[in-house]
Amino acid sequence: MRPVQYGSGSVNPTHLHTGLAVVGSGMAGMAAAIFAYNRGISFVQVGQASELSFSSGCLDLFSILPGRFPKVFADPFVGIDALTKKMPHHPYSRVTRSLIREAFADFTDFMESAGIYYYGPKQKDQNTWENQHIITPAGTLKPTWQVPATMHAGSLAIARNQRICIVDIKGLKGFGARQMAQTLQPQLPCVTGATIAFPGRETVKDLMCERLAWDLENPKILAQFISLLKPHADRVDVLGLPAILGMYRFEKLHRTLELALKKPVFEIPTLSPSVTGMRMKEAFLKKITDLGAHHFPVAVSDIVPDKDGFRFFVTQGLQTIEIRAENLVLATGRFMGRGLGVREEQVKEMLFDLPVTQPETRAGWLCPDFFDPAGHPVNQAGIETDDWFRPLGSTGSVFHPRLYAAGSILAHQDWKREKSGAGIAIASAFKAVSHIAGNTPVRRSEMR
Ligand SMILES: Cc1cc2nc3c(=O)[nH]c(=O)nc-3n(C[C@H](O)[C@H](O)[C@H](O)COP(=O)(O)OP(=O)(O)OC[C@H]3O[C@@H](n4cnc5c(N)ncnc54)[C@H](O)[C@@H]3O)c2cc1C
Repeated sequence: MRPVQYGSGSVNPTHLHTGLAVVGSGMAGMAAAIFAYNRGISFVQVGQASELSFSSGCLDLFSILPGRFPKVFADPFVGIDALTKKMPHHPYSRVTRSLIREAFADFTDFMESAGIYYYGPKQKDQNTWENQHIITPAGTLKPTWQVPATMHAGSLAIARNQRICIVDIKGLKGFGARQMAQTLQPQLPCVTGATIAFPGRETVKDLMCERLAWDLENPKILAQFISLLKPHADRVDVLGLPAILGMYRFEKLHRTLELALKKPVFEIPTLSPSVTGMRMKEAFLKKITDLGAHHFPVAVSDIVPDKDGFRFFVTQGLQTIEIRAENLVLATGRFMGRGLGVREEQVKEMLFDLPVTQPETRAGWLCPDFFDPAGHPVNQAGIETDDWFRPLGSTGSVFHPRLYAAGSILAHQDWKREKSGAGIAIASAFKAVSHIAGNTPVRRSEMR
């Protein structure tokens, strides 16, 4: 075993042989890890912080077909049919309705076991489903497919046009209840806004949601908070709050609040960093590590593909570990995740230098109108794959038979505009991992 120099010391490398390396710990990496676990495939996951900490915590599937005149679909599957007809290379054209449903069920079942409960869409009849809506801090309605339990009363109240009071906290930036109510009123005339001062932080001018979430875990503060909310709850059907109901015991806090106020209460996701997104990430990480999975919160470089799979090193504390993985799922995201970057006026894939589909020149990246409803061409840049989401190399054939890609790194999709972030991540990861499951005999990580 070759000794590895690390800082002033010297340690022996440890080798880890695994069936799958998931590179990325965003929505796509998380989904790939869950599906690998469910199928008994040994895996390691590598990846630093992701866009999850900014996410609302809702799982979007599809709702808007971008274009000069964007088309909104209540039923995401009807929308996906129209989308794939218009954009035959979209990642959704490689998955079926039943695969999407199975993938979401697997994903949400696992998250439920980790403590995050989701409410699915309203089923109109046997075949028709409708997106739900949540209120955003901008005072708009956002369509989405699955809603965390602490937000569900809001989606129901919107659908029923009930009397909602949104309460904001003095000193909490980016969350103005009265302004939100005013913006919402043309669609929801029964929404009002109110403000309270947070117990013990009445004079603080720059409050952070995470801080308030921690404070509410204290029963004394919670009791004071409830008494301040009571008069507002009494005059409406449902109460909406910024998402601050604790970081870990949110289900319990939510229930306590509803029982004390005798009204349904719902959370509204706040601007980044978002407590609801962080909860999802924390719950997943705790569960997956409790189950014994290897998760390395680091960036990797220099992954060497060979006939047996992939080799790379990760460093954890003073230990450097050589990972040998038979398969690899590339879930490194787009620009924000750093799966794609820019070099010499070209969009590049950062780990394998895979070909990236993109506008011919940099001048074509953006539309002249920043708010162009059709979206900017650079937001569809990404890598091409075969039907199993295996990236294509420069010759147009599969780059490596056991390399897969999932999530926002895929070309021909604009998840932000389409409202399809989680859907693309979960469906592509599911299909990739299903293919791996059919081809991988390894069942357990072997550390030696
Ligand atoms: C503000 C905001 C709000 C959102 N809200 C929603 C929402 O309400 N609903 C929804 O469905 N989606 C939402 N999303 C989108 C969603 O969170 C995901 O970002 C999106 O689905 C893409 O996920 P991804 O895993 O492909 O990429 P990313 O989330 O970008 O993750 C990429 C991962 O790869 C890692 N990585 C990159 N390079 C390396 C490397 N060399 N070595 C190791 N790791 C590496 C990064 O550290 C990161 O962990 C939101 C996103 C943002 C930014």
